[in-house]
This record gives sequence, structure tokens and C-alpha cells, in this order.
Amino acid sequence: MAIVGMRAVCPRCRDEAHAPTAWSSAWRCDTHGEINPLAPARLPTPEGLRALVRQARVPLWLPWPLPTGWLVSGFTGAGDERTGLRGSALALSGPNPLGGRGPAEMLIIAEEPGVGLGAGLAGLPGPDPGDGFAVGHPDATVQVGNHDAPLWLVESDSQAVFVGEVAASWLWLVLWPDTAGALLVEPLPLRDLREPDQEFAIPFGALSPRL
Ligand SMILES: [Zn+2]
Repeated sequence: MAIVGMRAVCPRCRDEAHAPTAWSSAWRCDTHGEINPLAPARLPTPEGLRALVRQARVPLWLPWPLPTGWLVSGFTGAGDERTGLRGSALALSGPNPLGGRGPAEMLIIAEEPGVGLGAGLAGLPGPDPGDGFAVGHPDATVQVGNHDAPLWLVESDSQAVFVGEVAASWLWLVLWPDTAGALLVEPLPLRDLREPDQEFAIPFGALSPRL
């Protein structure tokens, strides 16, 4: 990703990120120190998605088949050319399964520990879900290949936030409004877009305001 010379922000707080210098090879945030810079969200196109997949060092999750009426409405990644993308986020928009006004929004984030992209997008302090989150019975399930992976609800204000550990990285699912969390009543099938020999006729919508 040609992020040099571009504006980038901190994945945790959205403040401007400072580019590497002669003295430091890392991007920095005034508050959070060394970070994986978040590039501006891309207009959702097949070419943009392929470019993101090539840079990703973590899964880029796509719910597939998509829930009825849902569209891919953007994607972005945290990381630079030196590190590759250590966090990925895919946005989707569609009808709320429980009805209601306006579209529902969903973000699916994969990231290495400490990146803070999922917590940042979910409006949580982060960077990771914290020690106590996975106690008790899981609240939802995702299916990856033949495996089921458990997710747990994380407390938040006006959205539904589910987190689990899948394919050696955090997986965050964030849904607005919180009632759209009803999509997770059934196990959600996910595909990693980095896997070879996959073809998806992905419907793209307008860029999500959530990214
Ligand atoms: Zn920051």
C-alpha cells in the first residue's frame, strides 16, 4: 500500500499519524506511541479489495453467502509497506433483521493483538478485548471452513460488539444499531478473502460512514 506521503490516522483514536523519520521506522501517534497507520477508507471496488488482500497479514473476512440484501460498503487496513497490514476491516450495509428505520451496518475486523483497530471502530478503549471477556457461554458463532468459532459480547453503548479469536487473530463484529446483532442468532459463515481459488460476485454499495 503506497501510504508514504499520504495522510494516515491512528487506528485507536483517529488522530493524525506521524510518518516514519530518519530516526524511527515506525508510524507514531502522540497518545499511543508506535502504531499501525490506518489509511483512508477506500471506495468499495473489486480492484481496491484485491490490493488490500495482497497486503494483508491477517484474514480479510467476508460473510458468505451474504445475509439477504446486504452489500459490501468499504474496507481498510492498518499497517504500512514495511509491516504489511496487521489489521483489516470490511464494512457491510443491509436491512436490519428486526426491521426499523434506515439500513443496518456491520464491520468485521481481523487484527493482531495490540493493533486496536477493532476497539477503535467499536468506540472502546482497547486495544484488545481485555482478560475477562471470554468467560461464560459464547454469545454467537462464526463458521470458517468446517470449524465453528465462538464469539462473546463485549459491553458497549449503542452497538452490538462480538469478539473472538479466529485463525490466530482477533475477530471483531460490530453492528449498528445493536438490534442488528440478531443477525448472529444463526452461525455466520465467513471466508478469508486471502485464500486462493475463490471467486465471489460481491455486490458493492456506497462507502460506509462507519469506517
Ligand atoms: Zn492514537
